[in-house]
Amino acid sequence: MSTLYRKYRPKLWSEVFGQEQIKNTLKNEILNNKLAHAYIFAGSRGIGKTTTARLFAKTLNCTNRKPDNIEPCGLCDSCLAIDNGSSMELIEIDAASNTGVDDVRELRKLTRIPPKPGAYKIFIIDEVHMLSKQAFNALLKTLEEPPERVIFILATTEINKILDTILSRCQIFKFKKATNNEIISDLKFICEKEGISVSDNVLLSVAEKATGGFRDAESLLGQILSSLNQKSINENDIIDIINKTNQDYIIDFVTNIVKKDIKSCFNIISDVIENQSNFDDFILDLIEIFRKILIYKYNPDCLDNWKNLDEDIKNNVINTSKDIEFLRLSLILNKLIKVKLDIKNSDIIQLPLEIAVVEMCEDFVQVNVDNTVKKQQYNAVEKNVISVSKKIEVENKQKEDVSVLDILNEDEPRPNLSDVVEKNGLLNHVEPSKREQMMKRFGLIKDDNTNLNTQNKKEEEKVSEKQNIETQQQEDVSVFDILKDEFAENLE
Ligand SMILES: [Zn+2]
Repeated sequence: MSTLYRKYRPKLWSEVFGQEQIKNTLKNEILNNKLAHAYIFAGSRGIGKTTTARLFAKTLNCTNRKPDNIEPCGLCDSCLAIDNGSSMELIEIDAASNTGVDDVRELRKLTRIPPKPGAYKIFIIDEVHMLSKQAFNALLKTLEEPPERVIFILATTEINKILDTILSRCQIFKFKKATNNEIISDLKFICEKEGISVSDNVLLSVAEKATGGFRDAESLLGQILSSLNQKSINENDIIDIINKTNQDYIIDFVTNIVKKDIKSCFNIISDVIENQSNFDDFILDLIEIFRKILIYKYNPDCLDNWKNLDEDIKNNVINTSKDIEFLRLSLILNKLIKVKLDIKNSDIIQLPLEIAVVEMCEDFVQVNVDNTVKKQQYNAVEKNVISVSKKIEVENKQKEDVSVLDILNEDEPRPNLSDVVEKNGLLNHVEPSKREQMMKRFGLIKDDNTNLNTQNKKEEEKVSEKQNIETQQQEDVSVFDILKDEFAENLE
Protein backbone atom coordinates (compact mmCIF):
# COMPACT_ATOMS: atom_id res chain seq x y z
CA MET A 1 0.00 0.00 0.00
CA SER A 2 3.02 2.23 0.30
CA THR A 3 2.74 2.95 -3.38
CA LEU A 4 -0.89 4.06 -3.25
CA TYR A 5 0.11 7.56 -4.28
CA ARG A 6 2.11 6.30 -7.23
CA LYS A 7 -0.40 3.58 -8.09
CA TYR A 8 -3.25 6.07 -8.37
CA ARG A 9 -1.38 8.96 -9.82
CA PRO A 10 -4.03 10.41 -12.19
CA LYS A 11 -3.58 9.16 -15.75
CA LEU A 12 -6.56 11.11 -17.07
CA TRP A 13 -7.79 14.66 -16.49
CA SER A 14 -11.00 13.20 -15.09
CA GLU A 15 -8.98 11.56 -12.33
CA VAL A 16 -7.50 14.85 -11.12
CA PHE A 17 -9.45 16.27 -8.18
CA GLY A 18 -9.40 19.97 -7.44
CA GLN A 19 -7.48 22.76 -9.21
CA GLU A 20 -10.46 23.23 -11.54
CA GLN A 21 -9.40 26.59 -12.96
CA ILE A 22 -5.88 25.43 -13.72
CA LYS A 23 -7.12 22.24 -15.36
CA ASN A 24 -9.61 24.15 -17.53
CA THR A 25 -7.02 26.70 -18.68
CA LEU A 26 -4.50 23.99 -19.57
CA LYS A 27 -7.12 21.90 -21.36
CA ASN A 28 -8.19 24.92 -23.43
CA GLU A 29 -4.61 25.71 -24.35
CA ILE A 30 -4.15 22.13 -25.56
CA LEU A 31 -7.42 22.01 -27.49
CA ASN A 32 -6.83 25.42 -29.08
CA ASN A 33 -3.14 24.70 -29.62
CA LYS A 34 -2.19 27.93 -27.88
CA LEU A 35 0.65 26.74 -25.74
CA ALA A 36 3.16 28.80 -23.78
CA HIS A 37 6.86 28.01 -23.97
CA ALA A 38 7.20 27.98 -20.24
CA TYR A 39 4.91 27.49 -17.25
CA ILE A 40 5.36 27.94 -13.55
CA PHE A 41 3.42 25.58 -11.30
CA ALA A 42 3.63 27.05 -7.81
CA GLY A 43 2.16 25.80 -4.54
CA SER A 44 2.80 23.66 -1.48
CA ARG A 45 3.96 20.08 -1.52
CA GLY A 46 1.77 17.17 -2.55
CA ILE A 47 -1.08 19.09 -4.13
CA GLY A 48 -0.68 17.89 -7.71
CA LYS A 49 1.84 20.13 -9.49
CA THR A 50 4.01 17.37 -10.92
CA THR A 51 1.03 15.15 -11.58
CA THR A 52 -0.61 17.90 -13.63
CA ALA A 53 2.64 18.56 -15.48
CA ARG A 54 2.98 14.88 -16.44
CA LEU A 55 -0.62 14.67 -17.55
CA PHE A 56 -0.14 17.81 -19.63
CA ALA A 57 2.91 16.25 -21.31
CA LYS A 58 1.11 12.96 -21.84
CA THR A 59 -1.89 14.66 -23.45
CA LEU A 60 0.29 16.72 -25.81
CA ASN A 61 2.23 13.69 -26.99
CA CYS A 62 -0.51 11.03 -27.15
CA THR A 63 -0.45 9.76 -30.71
CA ASN A 64 -4.02 8.39 -30.55
CA ARG A 65 -5.69 11.51 -29.21
CA LYS A 66 -8.26 13.23 -31.46
CA PRO A 67 -7.82 17.04 -31.69
CA ASP A 68 -11.16 17.66 -29.93
CA ASN A 69 -10.51 15.12 -27.14
CA ILE A 70 -8.58 16.20 -24.05
CA GLU A 71 -7.87 12.78 -22.53
CA PRO A 72 -4.73 10.83 -23.50
CA CYS A 73 -5.33 7.25 -24.64
CA GLY A 74 -2.99 5.63 -22.14
CA LEU A 75 -2.19 2.90 -24.64
CA CYS A 76 0.08 4.39 -27.32
CA ASP A 77 3.88 4.13 -27.03
CA SER A 78 4.15 7.73 -25.90
CA CYS A 79 1.50 7.34 -23.16
CA LEU A 80 3.05 4.08 -21.92
CA ALA A 81 6.56 5.54 -21.95
CA ILE A 82 5.44 8.52 -19.90
CA ASP A 83 3.53 6.28 -17.47
CA ASN A 84 6.56 4.06 -16.85
CA GLY A 85 9.05 6.94 -16.82
CA SER A 86 10.99 5.94 -19.93
CA SER A 87 9.86 8.68 -22.28
CA MET A 88 12.53 10.54 -24.24
CA GLU A 89 10.16 13.47 -24.69
CA LEU A 90 9.45 14.05 -21.03
CA ILE A 91 12.54 14.96 -19.03
CA GLU A 92 12.17 15.49 -15.31
CA ILE A 93 14.91 17.28 -13.41
CA ASP A 94 15.08 17.78 -9.68
CA ALA A 95 16.65 21.20 -9.20
CA ALA A 96 17.32 20.36 -5.55
CA SER A 97 20.09 17.99 -6.62
CA ASN A 98 21.02 19.70 -9.91
CA THR A 99 21.47 23.25 -8.79
CA GLY A 100 24.52 24.27 -10.77
CA VAL A 101 25.09 26.11 -14.00
CA ASP A 102 26.64 22.99 -15.56
CA ASP A 103 23.39 21.11 -14.98
CA VAL A 104 21.50 23.82 -16.82
CA ARG A 105 24.05 23.77 -19.67
CA GLU A 106 23.44 20.01 -19.97
CA LEU A 107 19.74 20.76 -20.02
CA ARG A 108 20.23 23.32 -22.80
CA LYS A 109 22.11 20.72 -24.84
CA LEU A 110 19.14 18.39 -24.39
CA THR A 111 16.75 21.05 -25.63
CA ARG A 112 18.65 21.13 -28.92
CA ILE A 113 17.85 17.49 -29.59
CA PRO A 114 14.52 17.73 -31.42
CA PRO A 115 11.52 15.66 -30.32
CA LYS A 116 9.99 12.96 -32.46
CA PRO A 117 7.98 14.37 -35.36
CA GLY A 118 4.71 15.81 -34.13
CA ALA A 119 5.73 15.53 -30.48
CA TYR A 120 6.74 18.07 -27.85
CA LYS A 121 9.82 17.87 -25.71
CA ILE A 122 8.75 18.74 -22.21
CA PHE A 123 11.10 19.57 -19.37
CA ILE A 124 9.72 19.48 -15.85
CA ILE A 125 12.12 21.16 -13.43
CA ASP A 126 11.00 20.39 -9.90
CA GLU A 127 11.93 22.68 -6.98
CA VAL A 128 13.25 25.15 -9.55
CA HIS A 129 13.79 27.81 -6.87
CA MET A 130 16.80 25.80 -5.70
CA LEU A 131 18.83 26.55 -8.84
CA SER A 132 21.87 28.74 -8.31
CA LYS A 133 21.76 32.30 -9.64
CA GLN A 134 24.13 31.40 -12.49
CA ALA A 135 21.98 28.39 -13.33
CA PHE A 136 18.91 30.63 -13.40
CA ASN A 137 20.69 32.97 -15.81
CA ALA A 138 21.63 30.05 -18.04
CA LEU A 139 18.01 28.88 -17.93
CA LEU A 140 16.86 32.38 -18.78
CA LYS A 141 18.86 32.30 -22.03
CA THR A 142 16.92 29.19 -23.05
CA LEU A 143 13.62 30.77 -22.10
CA GLU A 144 14.49 33.90 -24.09
CA GLU A 145 15.07 31.86 -27.25
CA PRO A 146 12.96 28.75 -26.78
CA PRO A 147 13.65 25.98 -29.28
CA GLU A 148 10.76 24.81 -31.43
CA ARG A 149 8.32 22.44 -29.71
CA VAL A 150 10.12 22.61 -26.36
CA ILE A 151 8.05 23.37 -23.28
CA PHE A 152 9.36 24.07 -19.79
CA ILE A 153 7.28 23.43 -16.69
CA LEU A 154 8.98 24.91 -13.65
CA ALA A 155 7.49 23.56 -10.41
CA THR A 156 8.17 25.28 -7.13
CA THR A 157 7.02 25.50 -3.55
CA GLU A 158 8.68 28.92 -3.22
CA ILE A 159 7.75 31.15 -6.12
CA ASN A 160 9.10 34.21 -4.27
CA LYS A 161 12.62 32.87 -4.81
CA ILE A 162 12.33 32.89 -8.59
CA LEU A 163 13.82 35.82 -10.49
CA ASP A 164 11.38 38.28 -12.03
CA THR A 165 13.11 37.88 -15.37
CA ILE A 166 12.13 34.19 -15.31
CA LEU A 167 8.61 34.83 -14.02
CA SER A 168 7.94 37.35 -16.79
CA ARG A 169 8.63 34.70 -19.43
CA CYS A 170 6.33 32.08 -17.93
CA GLN A 171 2.63 31.51 -17.63
CA ILE A 172 2.06 31.20 -13.91
CA PHE A 173 -0.36 28.80 -12.24
CA LYS A 174 -0.77 28.96 -8.49
CA PHE A 175 -1.99 25.64 -7.14
CA LYS A 176 -4.24 25.79 -4.11
CA LYS A 177 -4.39 23.38 -1.21
CA ALA A 178 -7.18 20.88 -1.68
CA THR A 179 -10.45 21.24 0.21
CA ASN A 180 -11.60 18.37 2.43
CA ASN A 181 -14.33 17.56 -0.15
CA GLU A 182 -11.78 17.35 -2.96
CA ILE A 183 -9.59 15.07 -0.89
CA ILE A 184 -12.58 12.89 0.07
CA SER A 185 -13.54 12.55 -3.62
CA ASP A 186 -9.99 11.52 -4.41
CA LEU A 187 -9.92 8.99 -1.56
CA LYS A 188 -13.33 7.56 -2.52
CA PHE A 189 -12.05 7.02 -6.04
CA ILE A 190 -9.07 5.06 -4.70
CA CYS A 191 -11.20 3.02 -2.26
CA GLU A 192 -13.55 2.03 -5.08
CA LYS A 193 -10.63 0.89 -7.21
CA GLU A 194 -9.26 -1.10 -4.26
CA GLY A 195 -12.71 -2.59 -3.64
CA ILE A 196 -12.74 -1.49 -0.01
CA SER A 197 -15.65 0.16 1.76
CA VAL A 198 -14.49 3.04 3.92
CA SER A 199 -16.95 5.14 5.94
CA ASP A 200 -17.32 8.86 5.21
CA ASN A 201 -16.19 9.70 8.73
CA VAL A 202 -12.94 7.85 8.17
CA LEU A 203 -12.37 9.71 4.91
CA LEU A 204 -13.14 13.03 6.61
CA SER A 205 -10.67 12.24 9.41
CA VAL A 206 -8.00 11.42 6.84
CA ALA A 207 -8.74 14.62 4.87
CA GLU A 208 -8.51 16.72 8.03
CA LYS A 209 -5.19 15.17 9.00
CA ALA A 210 -3.78 15.81 5.53
CA THR A 211 -4.46 19.58 5.76
CA GLY A 212 -4.94 20.18 2.06
CA GLY A 213 -2.39 17.78 0.60
CA PHE A 214 -3.50 14.95 -1.69
CA ARG A 215 -0.22 13.16 -1.24
CA ASP A 216 -0.45 13.17 2.56
CA ALA A 217 -4.09 12.04 2.40
CA GLU A 218 -3.27 9.16 0.06
CA SER A 219 -0.32 8.16 2.21
CA LEU A 220 -2.47 8.04 5.30
CA LEU A 221 -5.16 6.07 3.50
CA GLY A 222 -2.49 3.64 2.31
CA GLN A 223 -1.31 3.28 5.89
CA ILE A 224 -4.86 2.52 7.08
CA LEU A 225 -5.55 0.00 4.33
CA SER A 226 -2.29 -1.86 4.85
CA SER A 227 -2.60 -1.86 8.66
CA LEU A 228 -6.14 -3.22 8.74
CA ASN A 229 -6.19 -5.40 5.65
CA GLN A 230 -10.01 -5.63 5.74
CA LYS A 231 -12.77 -4.96 3.24
CA SER A 232 -14.79 -2.58 5.36
CA ILE A 233 -13.39 0.18 7.54
CA ASN A 234 -15.18 2.49 9.99
CA GLU A 235 -13.99 5.12 12.47
CA ASN A 236 -13.53 2.67 15.37
CA ASP A 237 -11.00 0.74 13.32
CA ILE A 238 -8.74 3.68 12.70
CA ILE A 239 -8.49 5.33 16.13
CA ASP A 240 -4.95 4.05 16.72
CA ILE A 241 -3.79 4.50 13.15
CA ILE A 242 -5.23 7.88 12.34
CA ASN A 243 -3.29 9.38 15.20
CA LYS A 244 -0.08 8.06 13.75
CA THR A 245 0.35 10.60 10.99
CA ASN A 246 3.43 11.99 9.38
CA GLN A 247 3.38 14.58 12.14
CA ASP A 248 3.44 11.85 14.78
CA TYR A 249 6.42 10.25 13.10
CA ILE A 250 8.15 13.63 13.12
CA ILE A 251 7.49 14.18 16.83
CA ASP A 252 8.57 10.61 17.69
CA PHE A 253 11.71 11.00 15.67
CA VAL A 254 12.66 14.31 17.28
CA THR A 255 12.07 12.87 20.75
CA ASN A 256 14.22 9.82 20.05
CA ILE A 257 17.01 11.82 18.47
CA VAL A 258 17.16 13.95 21.58
CA LYS A 259 17.25 10.77 23.69
CA LYS A 260 19.91 9.33 21.33
CA ASP A 261 17.75 6.23 20.89
CA ILE A 262 19.10 4.96 17.57
CA LYS A 263 16.98 1.79 17.55
CA SER A 264 13.71 3.72 17.88
CA CYS A 265 14.82 6.17 15.20
CA PHE A 266 15.52 3.26 12.83
CA ASN A 267 12.06 1.83 13.54
CA ILE A 268 10.44 5.17 12.76
CA ILE A 269 12.39 5.47 9.50
CA SER A 270 11.26 1.96 8.57
CA ASP A 271 7.62 2.83 9.34
CA VAL A 272 7.85 6.02 7.31
CA ILE A 273 9.26 4.13 4.32
CA GLU A 274 6.48 1.58 4.68
CA ASN A 275 3.61 4.01 5.09
CA GLN A 276 4.52 7.42 3.72
CA SER A 277 4.74 8.01 0.02
CA ASN A 278 7.32 10.73 0.05
CA PHE A 279 10.48 10.36 2.05
CA ASP A 280 11.69 13.80 0.90
CA ASP A 281 8.74 15.35 2.72
CA PHE A 282 9.67 13.55 5.91
CA ILE A 283 13.21 14.96 5.73
CA LEU A 284 11.89 18.46 4.96
CA ASP A 285 9.51 18.24 7.92
CA LEU A 286 12.38 17.15 10.17
CA ILE A 287 14.51 20.08 9.00
CA GLU A 288 11.58 22.42 9.60
CA ILE A 289 10.87 21.23 13.14
CA PHE A 290 14.54 21.30 14.21
CA ARG A 291 14.77 24.78 12.68
CA LYS A 292 11.78 25.83 14.79
CA ILE A 293 13.41 24.37 17.90
CA LEU A 294 16.55 26.36 17.11
CA ILE A 295 14.61 29.58 16.60
CA TYR A 296 12.47 29.05 19.70
CA LYS A 297 15.52 28.31 21.84
CA TYR A 298 16.87 31.75 21.15
CA ASN A 299 13.65 33.67 20.66
CA PRO A 300 10.63 32.31 22.56
CA ASP A 301 8.63 35.30 21.27
CA CYS A 302 8.57 33.61 17.86
CA LEU A 303 5.50 31.66 19.10
CA ASP A 304 3.50 34.80 18.28
CA ASN A 305 4.23 34.16 14.59
CA TRP A 306 3.31 30.49 14.85
CA LYS A 307 -0.32 30.86 15.79
CA ASN A 308 -1.38 28.35 13.13
CA LEU A 309 1.19 25.80 14.17
CA ASP A 310 -0.30 22.49 15.30
CA GLU A 311 -0.47 22.27 19.12
CA ASP A 312 1.41 18.95 19.28
CA ILE A 313 4.23 20.29 17.14
CA LYS A 314 4.31 23.51 19.15
CA ASN A 315 4.59 21.58 22.44
CA ASN A 316 7.29 19.36 20.98
CA VAL A 317 9.26 22.43 19.88
CA ILE A 318 8.96 24.03 23.32
CA ASN A 319 9.86 20.87 25.26
CA THR A 320 12.69 19.80 23.00
CA SER A 321 14.33 23.19 23.07
CA LYS A 322 14.92 22.72 26.81
CA ASP A 323 16.60 19.34 26.37
CA ILE A 324 19.00 20.06 23.57
CA GLU A 325 22.17 22.10 23.33
CA PHE A 326 22.70 24.62 20.57
CA LEU A 327 25.74 22.79 19.24
CA ARG A 328 23.88 19.49 18.95
CA LEU A 329 20.99 21.29 17.25
CA SER A 330 23.24 22.82 14.65
CA LEU A 331 24.94 19.47 14.12
CA ILE A 332 21.56 17.76 13.60
CA LEU A 333 20.40 20.45 11.16
CA ASN A 334 23.62 20.23 9.17
CA LYS A 335 23.29 16.45 9.00
CA LEU A 336 19.66 16.66 7.86
CA ILE A 337 20.44 19.20 5.14
CA LYS A 338 23.13 16.84 3.90
CA VAL A 339 20.65 13.93 4.03
CA LYS A 340 18.24 15.90 1.86
CA LEU A 341 20.90 16.26 -0.82
CA ASP A 342 22.27 12.72 -0.43
CA ILE A 343 18.98 10.85 -0.81
CA LYS A 344 18.73 12.03 -4.42
CA ASN A 345 21.73 9.87 -5.29
CA SER A 346 21.15 6.99 -2.90
CA ASP A 347 19.87 3.64 -4.17
CA ILE A 348 18.56 2.90 -0.69
CA ILE A 349 16.57 6.02 -0.02
CA GLN A 350 16.62 5.79 3.80
CA LEU A 351 20.35 5.00 4.09
CA PRO A 352 21.63 8.61 4.28
CA LEU A 353 19.21 9.31 7.15
CA GLU A 354 20.16 6.09 8.95
CA ILE A 355 23.82 7.04 8.75
CA ALA A 356 22.98 10.53 9.95
CA VAL A 357 21.01 9.12 12.91
CA VAL A 358 24.07 7.18 14.05
CA GLU A 359 26.21 10.28 13.68
CA MET A 360 23.66 12.42 15.50
CA CYS A 361 23.36 9.98 18.41
CA GLU A 362 26.59 8.05 18.82
CA ASP A 363 29.19 8.99 21.38
CA PHE A 364 31.90 9.83 18.91
CA VAL A 365 29.69 12.59 17.60
CA GLN A 366 29.12 13.65 21.16
CA VAL A 367 32.88 13.62 21.59
CA ASN A 368 33.11 16.02 18.69
CA VAL A 369 30.42 18.16 20.24
CA ASP A 370 32.11 17.87 23.62
CA ASN A 371 35.41 18.80 22.09
CA THR A 372 33.84 21.80 20.45
CA VAL A 373 32.24 22.73 23.76
CA LYS A 374 35.51 22.12 25.55
CA LYS A 375 37.34 24.20 22.99
CA GLN A 376 34.87 27.04 23.51
CA GLN A 377 35.07 26.64 27.26
CA TYR A 378 38.84 26.51 26.99
CA ASN A 379 38.84 29.70 24.91
CA ALA A 380 36.60 31.37 27.48
CA VAL A 381 38.79 30.15 30.33
CA GLU A 382 41.88 31.21 28.43
CA LYS A 383 40.44 34.71 28.04
CA ASN A 384 39.62 34.81 31.74
CA VAL A 385 43.05 33.56 32.64
CA ILE A 386 44.64 36.25 30.52
CA SER A 387 42.52 39.01 32.01
CA VAL A 388 42.96 37.69 35.56
CA SER A 389 46.71 37.31 35.13
CA LYS A 390 46.90 40.86 33.76
CA LYS A 391 44.98 42.05 36.81
CA ILE A 392 47.26 40.14 39.12
CA GLU A 393 50.27 41.58 37.30
CA VAL A 394 48.95 45.12 37.85
CA GLU A 395 48.14 44.37 41.48
CA ASN A 396 51.57 42.87 42.04
CA LYS A 397 53.13 45.92 40.47
CA GLN A 398 51.13 48.10 42.82
CA LYS A 399 52.05 45.83 45.72
CA GLU A 400 55.69 46.05 44.72
CA ASP A 401 55.47 49.82 44.68
CA VAL A 402 53.80 49.83 48.07
CA SER A 403 56.25 47.36 49.52
CA VAL A 404 59.22 49.39 48.32
CA LEU A 405 57.73 52.33 50.16
CA ASP A 406 57.01 50.12 53.13
CA ILE A 407 60.55 48.81 53.11
CA LEU A 408 61.84 52.35 52.87
CA ASN A 409 59.59 53.46 55.68
CA GLU A 410 60.00 50.52 58.00
CA ASP A 411 62.90 48.26 57.24
CA GLU A 412 65.39 50.40 55.39
CA PRO A 413 67.85 51.96 57.82
CA ARG A 414 67.11 55.65 58.18
CA PRO A 415 69.67 57.96 56.60
CA ASN A 416 72.42 58.80 59.06
CA LEU A 417 71.60 62.29 60.42
CA SER A 418 75.21 63.19 61.11
CA ASP A 419 76.00 62.41 57.45
CA VAL A 420 73.13 64.62 56.36
CA VAL A 421 74.31 67.41 58.65
CA GLU A 422 77.88 67.03 57.46
CA LYS A 423 76.92 66.75 53.78
CA ASN A 424 74.72 69.78 53.83
CA GLY A 425 77.05 71.84 55.99
CA LEU A 426 74.23 72.59 58.39
CA LEU A 427 76.52 73.43 61.28
CA ASN A 428 79.29 75.02 59.23
CA HIS A 429 78.61 78.43 60.70
CA VAL A 430 79.10 77.05 64.26
CA GLU A 431 82.55 77.15 65.77
CA PRO A 432 84.22 73.70 65.41
CA SER A 433 84.52 73.07 69.16
CA LYS A 434 80.88 74.01 69.73
CA ARG A 435 79.81 72.07 66.63
CA GLU A 436 81.18 68.82 68.04
CA GLN A 437 79.51 69.58 71.36
CA MET A 438 76.21 70.27 69.67
CA MET A 439 76.43 67.16 67.56
CA LYS A 440 77.14 65.11 70.62
CA ARG A 441 74.22 66.71 72.45
CA PHE A 442 71.84 65.95 69.62
CA GLY A 443 73.19 62.39 69.28
CA LEU A 444 74.58 63.01 65.86
CA ILE A 445 77.90 61.61 66.87
CA LYS A 446 78.55 58.92 69.46
CA ASP A 447 79.53 59.88 72.99
CA ASP A 448 81.59 57.49 75.12
CA ASN A 449 79.24 57.97 78.05
CA THR A 450 76.06 56.86 76.35
CA ASN A 451 73.83 56.80 79.41
CA LEU A 452 74.85 60.24 80.46
CA ASN A 453 74.44 61.33 76.89
CA THR A 454 70.93 59.91 76.80
CA GLN A 455 70.02 61.69 80.00
CA ASN A 456 71.53 64.89 78.74
CA LYS A 457 69.90 64.37 75.44
CA LYS A 458 66.49 64.03 77.04
CA GLU A 459 67.01 67.20 79.07
CA GLU A 460 68.31 69.00 76.05
CA GLU A 461 65.29 67.83 74.07
CA LYS A 462 62.99 69.20 76.72
CA VAL A 463 64.79 72.51 76.67
CA SER A 464 64.87 72.55 72.92
CA GLU A 465 61.15 71.77 72.73
CA LYS A 466 60.42 74.57 75.16
CA GLN A 467 62.54 76.97 73.15
CA ASN A 468 60.83 75.85 69.95
CA ILE A 469 57.42 76.58 71.39
CA GLU A 470 58.52 79.99 72.60
CA THR A 471 60.09 80.79 69.26
CA GLN A 472 56.95 79.65 67.51
CA GLN A 473 54.85 81.86 69.81
CA GLN A 474 57.19 84.73 69.20
CA GLU A 475 56.96 84.18 65.47
CA ASP A 476 53.17 83.98 65.66
CA VAL A 477 53.05 87.15 67.66
CA SER A 478 55.31 89.00 65.31
CA VAL A 479 53.24 87.94 62.29
CA PHE A 480 50.16 89.08 64.17
CA ASP A 481 51.84 92.36 65.01
CA ILE A 482 52.85 92.97 61.42
CA LEU A 483 49.31 92.25 60.25
CA LYS A 484 47.94 94.48 62.99
CA ASP A 485 50.32 97.22 62.05
CA GLU A 486 49.46 96.96 58.39
CA PHE A 487 45.79 96.94 59.22
CA ALA A 488 46.23 100.03 61.36
CA GLU A 489 48.15 101.77 58.55
CA ASN A 490 45.41 100.96 56.08
CA LEU A 491 42.85 102.34 58.43
CA GLU A 492 44.71 105.60 58.66
ZN1 LIG B 1 -1.77 7.85 -26.03
